This record gives sequence, structure tokens and C-alpha cells, in this order.
Amino acid sequence: MEMEIELLRLVMDKFPSLSVEQTTDLAGKYLTSLAKMRVDIANGQVASSPVSGVSDNVAPMKLKVNPHNAIQADKIVCCICGGEFKTLTKGHLAEHGLTRDTYLDLCGYAKNTPLMCRDQIAARKASVQESKPWEKTKRWQEKQKKQEKREEAAKAVLASEKKPVEDKGHSTPPSITA
Ligand SMILES: [Zn+2]
Repeated sequence: MEMEIELLRLVMDKFPSLSVEQTTDLAGKYLTSLAKMRVDIANGQVASSPVSGVSDNVAPMKLKVNPHNAIQADKIVCCICGGEFKTLTKGHLAEHGLTRDTYLDLCGYAKNTPLMCRDQIAARKASVQESKPWEKTKRWQEKQKKQEKREEAAKAVLASEKKPVEDKGHSTPPSITA
């Protein structure tokens, strides 16, 4: 109750020209949106500004499909519109004004959740297994190392061969200080 009075006082201070009815109405709207915000926070949703509830065109995005049932073996269902896909694309989410991240948030999915049906996830895993990108990297690194070694060895050979070749025919002995 204290909060309500505090809120009424705030509204009266801010909008002194309003009638008593308008003031209580506005304070009520603030309260409703505050309550809604608390519910949103309790549900793990992103808190919206309490003032946004005052405008009438605020329609909180409702999920049509339970996110827990949305990812199936042969399809992924869009939790917003119920559309069925193999892969839920960025383009489709954009139609709902969402990005991948905001959609994941909204549905309570983990950040790295693949937005595709399970068959497709499995297929992707299999193809990754087959192409073994990590092995390619390792092989590439080894090749790189081998090449460096070969170059170093070649340089060493050149350096060791240089002196006698250069010194051939000279009367002075090679000045090796090392
Ligand atoms: Zn949709």
C-alpha cells in the first residue's frame, strides 16, 4: 500500500494538471506494468521498462508453442508462429522482429542451442566427423612445422658448405672463432 501512495504522489508531482481520476488511472497503469514486470522477471524474461506499459499498444510476445516440444527429430517448430522448419533461419526470426539471441532468450534455450531439427543436427555432426576439420588443422600444422625444419636444415647445410667452398684456393685459413 505504501508503494501505491508513493506512486500517486510521484504522478501528481510529475503531472500536476491531471484530475484525480486521471492521476489514479495513470498510477494504476504504472502499477500494472510494474506487476507485469515482476512476473516477467520471475519467468526469467527480459524486464521491460515500467513506463512502456502505459502506452496501449504493448503486446507482450506470447509463445504459441512450448519451447520444450519445439525441437523434434524431423522438424523444428517456431515457438512464435508455430511454423515448421528443418532449420529456423535468421531470416524467419527477423520476421518476428527477433534475432537468434533474443529468440533463444525468449524460449529459455541455452545460448549455443542449434535451431534445427535433431535429424539435421545429427547429419551435421556426422559430416563434421567425416571431414575431420581438426585433423586437417593438425596435419596442416605438422606440415608447416616440417617445412620450417626443412628450411632450417637447408640453411644450416648452406652455411656449413659455404665456408669451405669460399675458402677454396685461399692461402689464409678460415677464420672460425666459434
Ligand atoms: Zn515464426
